Amino acid sequence: MKIKAPDAFSGGRTPSFEQSARESLADTQLRRNLGKATQTIRRKRGVAVAEMPDWEQLREAGRALKARTLRHLDEYLLQLEESVKRAGGQVHWARDAEEANGIVAEIAKSHRAREVVKVKSIATDETKLNEHLEREGIEAFETDLAELIIQLAGETSSHILVPAIHKNRSEIRELFMQKLGARDLSDSPPDLANVARLYLREKFLKAKVGISGANFAVAETGTVCVVESEGNGRMCTTLPPVLVTLMGIEKVIPAWRDYEVFMQLLPRSSTAERMNPYTTFWTGVSEGDGPQEFHLILLDNGRTEVLADEIGRQTLNCIRCSACLNVCPVYERTGGHAYNSVYPGPIGAILTPQLVGIGKPGSDSLPYASSLCGACYEVCPVKINIPEVLIHLRGRVVRHKQDEGGVKGKLDPENVAMKAMAKTFSDRRLYEGAQRAARIGQWPLARGGAIHRLPGRLAGWTEARELKPVPKQTFREWWRSRNGSAMEGPGA
Ligand code: SF4
Repeated sequence: MKIKAPDAFSGGRTPSFEQSARESLADTQLRRNLGKATQTIRRKRGVAVAEMPDWEQLREAGRALKARTLRHLDEYLLQLEESVKRAGGQVHWARDAEEANGIVAEIAKSHRAREVVKVKSIATDETKLNEHLEREGIEAFETDLAELIIQLAGETSSHILVPAIHKNRSEIRELFMQKLGARDLSDSPPDLANVARLYLREKFLKAKVGISGANFAVAETGTVCVVESEGNGRMCTTLPPVLVTLMGIEKVIPAWRDYEVFMQLLPRSSTAERMNPYTTFWTGVSEGDGPQEFHLILLDNGRTEVLADEIGRQTLNCIRCSACLNVCPVYERTGGHAYNSVYPGPIGAILTPQLVGIGKPGSDSLPYASSLCGACYEVCPVKINIPEVLIHLRGRVVRHKQDEGGVKGKLDPENVAMKAMAKTFSDRRLYEGAQRAARIGQWPLARGGAIHRLPGRLAGWTEARELKPVPKQTFREWWRSRNGSAMEGPGA
């Protein structure tokens, strides 16, 4: 399987989800790894959530807090800036990825840093910070174990929380032996973690600059928070003398007390833990303790456009827990690389098209990467109605294509077919007539209780699935034969 696919954020030629998914589906090892991992996380999350009698109230509180923050985002961001400066930090505003990357590179250069250590951060993946720093002659070392694995493999992340979910232990063992020179290595997790620990410890101690993302930042105090499992985040944010945090503007929360809600929702939804092992908070700088220089970069990169869309706006509620990925039947089969975006799964299907813009290569296919089963909505700890946003975005994609002349208005065959279907489904007599016609028309196609191949332009429908034939007798016909009268209903 081709792992290093073009990315929807790169502006390059990005294949559609459909094209990439075909490739992923052919990789049986990938599907085995994914199935095993997502089923395990799903089961554990179910147990962790079931312990909380007020889970639904917590979800509602999380949703309401996020909605209120987004309504007053401008005010909270200014308050955050003021609080961080008051605590001795510096704040930078970045309109897009280029500006954000430029600011980080300038800070590193001003300290003559040729190496930086990083905490796992999707915001920096979004801006392609590592690639930018490399062009500037600065080497960025990922310190999260899974991020390290994919960096050494020269691949891209396939899961928000478990970026190397597509790799199994023996593949990681091979990689460490090749790239880190490890010898006589078993594929047991403690052995693999030890090799990474030895390699990273030296990087932590040498680095002059640490780079992180942020899970939350409190407007009232200027406190930034990173939630993690391995302790590498704690090392990155405390050992180097300079700390740079790149954070999307939607990560601000109004008050310290709001952590009460989010720190219950996030660990249970992401790693299925009551509390994650490491939660690091810092407020500006403190003399003699931790980094003596702190920079907070507030990244827009399309977020204000998302905010302007009344239905799409809820996407910015996301706390990146990844619960929606683990329950998605599409993600479980295709994996994250098929989405060609740093945000895979259901959240990627709604966030990426909005951030990069409708009509951009690759992104238009993402709202269709869903069966609309609704499992993502049910687990989302901040109640993002992902199916609603998916349908809304599908509408925007179609309207965009119409504007571009890609959909040929009223005479387009798909439009004609949809109009005919709408008319048929809204009239009982027409509907029953269509059923009778289908019953007659299907006889050369139905074999062994299923239609395996439809003719002509309809063939695409049966390429990957079977169609149930129209039954010999419908429910209404059966009812009439028993009771001698037609059922009358709204469609009659
Ligand atoms: S959309 Fe909801 S479930 Fe998915 S990552 Fe974001 S917060 Fe988690």
